[in-house]
Amino acid sequence: MKYNRTGRSGLLLPAISLGLWHNFGGNDVFENGRAMVRRAFDLGITHFDLANNYGPPAGSAEESFGQILKKDFTTYRDELIISSKAGYYMWPGPYGEWGSKKNLVASLDQSLKRMGLDYVDIYYHHRPDPNTPLEETMSALDLLVRQGKALYVGISNYSAEQAREAAQILRRLGTPCLIHQPNYSMMSRWIEDGLQDVLAEEGIGTIAFSPLQKGILTDRYLNGITADSRAAGPSVFLSEKEITEEVIGKVRKLNELAAARGQKMSQLALSWVLRGGKVTSALIGASKVSQIEDAVASLNAPELSAEELEQIEKILQG
Ligand code: NDP
Repeated sequence: MKYNRTGRSGLLLPAISLGLWHNFGGNDVFENGRAMVRRAFDLGITHFDLANNYGPPAGSAEESFGQILKKDFTTYRDELIISSKAGYYMWPGPYGEWGSKKNLVASLDQSLKRMGLDYVDIYYHHRPDPNTPLEETMSALDLLVRQGKALYVGISNYSAEQAREAAQILRRLGTPCLIHQPNYSMMSRWIEDGLQDVLAEEGIGTIAFSPLQKGILTDRYLNGITADSRAAGPSVFLSEKEITEEVIGKVRKLNELAAARGQKMSQLALSWVLRGGKVTSALIGASKVSQIEDAVASLNAPELSAEELEQIEKILQG
């Protein structure tokens, strides 16, 4: 594993991190999730990313992860970086989502109980809240660090402007913003339009979620939609409608370029996200142990050349 410094902090994160958004819920096979976490850790993946609402049902991914920790990792807590988040809908009434101090404090207490932990390593505000003063949300993060319930704090899905403001407030409070978690992949590039510059200037790390575009940037859909894939499954976050001929046409060409480099499509997508060292960690999901092995093996590939990057641009714009 390669470990990268997170912004201007003391924390090193693995170049590949594992997220538990899909495939670790109460409706999934526990032993499959357990095998994935164990294999990931053995391959040097020290960072596991969760959120209050991961499941389904919401909360069950944290519960499953808590069980895995209890069974297999009790002596390894100090080798792990575990994150959680609050901000999306979690419980009924006015306090179960968004960015109030009430929501963030109560939600972290719930997450810690579900995972059986005393503290998380990183606690995120999951999405910007247009109706709560940013000072309140950031001071809730600062409070939780001072209470010892989180070591570091981060933000997710914040725009460049919102990230700048959040970073300034947190710095004033004395709890620097460690990291931003945005979506970033060959097919989702909004962070290149301002956010990456802000994060570099503010010394904030970047952990890119869905770097495989939820599975589209893999060989998964090259020959149709198979029954065991996310697009065919119950997840509402990837519909078959996204797997268009146009999209798959591009993936087919990218897959040829990957093969010429001796890589799988998914590995090319990760090499691309991590190119040039701007992204601290690529935050993948997985439904099988072999997908985690593929991801870690991508780190052995040579850097993408200027010529290859140009070819990729042409295919993407195609
Ligand atoms: P990816 O883009 O990495 O997609 C993962 C999916 O791609 C897998 O579940 C699998 O799908 C497929 N896949 C992975 N490797 C391979 C391979 N080698 N060959 C073929 N298919 C492969 O990420 P996710 O969308 O899962 O998101 C990752 C994490 O990011 C989440 O778990 C979460 O922690 C975080 N996240 C954060 C968000 C936020 O708002 N902050 C929002 C979304 C995600 P299949 O099931 O079809 O096998």
